[in-house]
Amino acid sequence: MVESPTSQLRSAVRDVADFPQPGILFKDITPVLADARLLQMAIDGMAHAFYGQKVDKVVGIDARGFIFGAMLAARLHTGFIPARKKGKLPWKTIGVDYSLEYGTNSIELHLDAIEPGENVILADDLLATGGTAGAVLELIEKSGGNLLGSVFFIELGFLNGRSKIAHHGPVHSLLHY
Ligand code: AMP
Repeated sequence: MVESPTSQLRSAVRDVADFPQPGILFKDITPVLADARLLQMAIDGMAHAFYGQKVDKVVGIDARGFIFGAMLAARLHTGFIPARKKGKLPWKTIGVDYSLEYGTNSIELHLDAIEPGENVILADDLLATGGTAGAVLELIEKSGGNLLGSVFFIELGFLNGRSKIAHHGPVHSLLHY
């Protein structure tokens, strides 16, 4: 029997225990990136939800969201916008602080990255608690972008990130844990 694309992708994701800190089961997506066929399958699967829609920009989150987001932008023939950790973007920015399990973090977009009314989607490798995605979705809305939704390669459903960001629009993910 031929394995479905999602089960082939699922088999390729490597679980790494206690990285980057004790108690975290890290989802290592590098084996998917390294395999030409799996990489295409992943991007196809993520793009699928947006086929037929007019998308202007894909926003990808620092750092693995740059990989998926930029490839998705190429597939959908849109522009790409990086959402970066504080202090990394060279031009004028808008930023937001958000809370992590321990402490806070800040994420920024260039002030002129999104033109008001543009149709925007958010992409990242993984949805965990939804704190990071929620912060970037807030920035996209503050910039005047018309959010079409978010897409993740992996969603850790047991952390309920989806409920934190569902009010920003549809949430799509390819692999569910
Ligand atoms: P969160 O803000 O909790 O949704 O965390 C999402 C961000 O943290 C994503 O950009 C992921 O790259 C990363 N992340 C969180 N948990 C994991 C995990 N178990 N494995 C891999 N990456 C993770």
